[in-house]
Amino acid sequence: MKYFVTTFYKFIPIKQEQLKATQEHFKDFAKKRNIKGLMLIAMEGINSTICAPTEEGFRELKEEIKKWFSLTDKDFKDSYSHKQIFRIIKVAIRKEIVTLNLPNYKPEAHNPKHLTPTEWNEAIKDRDAVIVDTRNWYENNLGMMKNAIDLRIDEFTEFKNKLQELNLPKDKKILMYCTGGIRCEKAHKEAQDLGYSNVFQLKDGILRYLEEYPNREFEGECFVFDERVAVDQNLRPSATYAFCPHCGQPAKTIQHCKRCDTHYKICNSCANNSKTNELCSKDCAYQYRRFPNKKGEKQLQGYKAVKQNAYFLNQTRKNRDL
Ligand SMILES: [Zn+2]
Ligand SMILES: [Zn+2]
Repeated sequence: MKYFVTTFYKFIPIKQEQLKATQEHFKDFAKKRNIKGLMLIAMEGINSTICAPTEEGFRELKEEIKKWFSLTDKDFKDSYSHKQIFRIIKVAIRKEIVTLNLPNYKPEAHNPKHLTPTEWNEAIKDRDAVIVDTRNWYENNLGMMKNAIDLRIDEFTEFKNKLQELNLPKDKKILMYCTGGIRCEKAHKEAQDLGYSNVFQLKDGILRYLEEYPNREFEGECFVFDERVAVDQNLRPSATYAFCPHCGQPAKTIQHCKRCDTHYKICNSCANNSKTNELCSKDCAYQYRRFPNKKGEKQLQGYKAVKQNAYFLNQTRKNRDL
């Protein structure tokens, strides 16, 4: 079965008194079509990824989004999945659609300089330019643009300080990118505030870049904030990564559980921890500690709970780039 996925954002003023009605409308609209996902709405606009089980519902939702928020077809970054990648539809009212403590943001007030994927390929030929990844370290671990600087940030609000620490000359050409383009909209302002005047951002981020130029400047896979964990060079759901059953981070090392004999994927740090290594779940880890010599069935209830944990972890990460 094919599920239709799209990611989009738009900075567009929404009146405070309209937020609640907007929330109700889209919750209802999505539910009727069995569409799931996350939509963040704020007075500064909308930021969302949704997953629809039918092409018809998918089209209808896009049309509705276009009408309400003045989007065009070009604003959607589409991909697909073979399973539903969200558990619920959540339409949340927030202060910001991407958190940087800059609410009610209007990018056009700061003269953003967007580069299309083709313009990006040209711009990086300038050997004097620096390429800066504005995403978090756990995203960068899965894949990055060639020669990009990884700021190793835990969350987006650290961006400004980390950029400053690079001590780049103020006229340096800075080429920034993120997953879907939204973080760079605000990162651009932060860079300007630090005095950088020559800042460019990859429009619509890695997701658009891969649509046009797979297997070129971006290496590895692109982390996404849903159950796919990441998408590959052709925007297919990752076949490499799964959520680590112990901590919810992306995991790719296949292990064999010494308690229940199933195969699963574990992250490097849990693989290096004797309490979690070679154990497929929190349940098996717990039982193994109590009875180290006893085999046992895989505990399905626990496994579901762990999946829920991973989902929860993702949902609550502050700086989602949907
Ligand atoms: Zn882990
Ligand atoms: Zn197990």
